[in-house]
Amino acid sequence: MSRRVNNFSAGPSTLPQQVLEEAQAEFVEYQGSGMSLIEMSHRGNHFDEVHRDAIEMTRQIFRVPDCFEVLFLQGGATFQFSMVPMNLLRAGKRAGYVNSGSWATGAMTDAKFYGDIYTAWEGKDCGYTRMPQDDELEIQSDTRYLHITSNETIGGVQFTHWPDVDVPLVCDMSSDYMSRAIPWEKFDLVYGGLQKNLGPSGMALVFVRKSVVEDCNTDIGRYMRYAVHAEKNSMFNTPPVFPIYILGKILKWMSEKGGLDVIEREAQEKSNLLYSVIDSSDGYYSCPVERRCRSTMNVVFRLPNDNLEAEFLKQSDAADLLNLKGHRSVGGCRASIYNAMPRTGVTALAEFMVAFRDNNPG
Ligand SMILES: *Cc1c(COP(=O)(O)O)cnc(C)c1O
Repeated sequence: MSRRVNNFSAGPSTLPQQVLEEAQAEFVEYQGSGMSLIEMSHRGNHFDEVHRDAIEMTRQIFRVPDCFEVLFLQGGATFQFSMVPMNLLRAGKRAGYVNSGSWATGAMTDAKFYGDIYTAWEGKDCGYTRMPQDDELEIQSDTRYLHITSNETIGGVQFTHWPDVDVPLVCDMSSDYMSRAIPWEKFDLVYGGLQKNLGPSGMALVFVRKSVVEDCNTDIGRYMRYAVHAEKNSMFNTPPVFPIYILGKILKWMSEKGGLDVIEREAQEKSNLLYSVIDSSDGYYSCPVERRCRSTMNVVFRLPNDNLEAEFLKQSDAADLLNLKGHRSVGGCRASIYNAMPRTGVTALAEFMVAFRDNNPG
């Protein structure tokens, strides 16, 4: 038996054990073929079935309407920071960006190369501890889209209420992908890397409205065009075979659990376990994020001082509660509790936090 710790890594991150074991069992020889799935043609019957299943399950579980294309693209979410404006922006149109933290800043940095963009809301002034309210968004004329980051992985800040604006939304959902239902009518494009909720790194799952695909720029290289990938059903070049295969298995695991509604409820319950320890600790633990924007995926918290924080990380490591250190840019602690983090792991952390406070008074 392999040893499995409670891994609170922000990404790549914990995946369902059942999925890892299934993949292991069929890794060397895939379904009687005499070879591994990663050794065979991506145009053959075996991979074709894996590919079609993954697309179908994605549509079914995430309730994706027919007016959206489902695309499997390489380059992670980061490549989408460029690909979105390359395809959607042109002279006379601009894009608004909500700067909610590190990832939104990254998206803006790249978009600047491809078009006219502006900051529709700046979160830096409040230390990226909240998302904007609707009436704080400054949407300019000729706005092609408003770009938002549904969950800031480093800051632990999440849109719990989708912006109500009269321009289409484009959203980076990398770190809360498929953890809740989304209102598709608000979106033109949704993207995210797999490696938080949905699989290994190296691939982005992208949803683009079909009418948008038809109207994308065509003066860019073929790999950069949504229309090329849509026309070839994400088989324009050799697709990321292994991530697609694992994605399919994770979707099956999600479906067996009861689908999106169950996942969404569990995410609420798991994060509430940790926030209630924080809130009932008389200020020993503190979460810098405004209450209405607390993330269900990345729970960030501080201890009374740096020494106690270091001690907390040392002792939690020894208790097999791993990767609780906050991102180096912000410090503190962070528990990433994505879809595959079992409730038992979160309970173990909650109990550890209570005991640590009792044994190490501030
Ligand atoms: C992890 C992450 C990314 C980057 O994903 P890559 O696959 O490494 O490009 C982008 N945005 C958010 C919100 C993330 O959490």
